[in-house]
Amino acid sequence: MSWLKRGRDKQADPKQAQSSAGAATECLHVALDPHCDRLEDMGHEERAASFRCEACGREFDAAEGTALCAAEADRLRRLME
Ligand SMILES: [Zn+2]
Repeated sequence: MSWLKRGRDKQADPKQAQSSAGAATECLHVALDPHCDRLEDMGHEERAASFRCEACGREFDAAEGTALCAAEADRLRRLME
């Protein structure tokens, strides 16, 4: 039930939150928040030590998070075409 922790997501659309709650098991993890171990790495997603999905609260290690970010970037690129 980790989506209940979305309190810090100020831009959450209530309607969107409801639908994403119903599809929590199929979260695409597109709202990844990079976590850096070192202050100087802040703002550099490629240096993030781990990622946390803002939508479902699941945490990923650097390799998983980077792969998900790349997949999402790829998906968006295809949408633009
Ligand atoms: Zn997720």
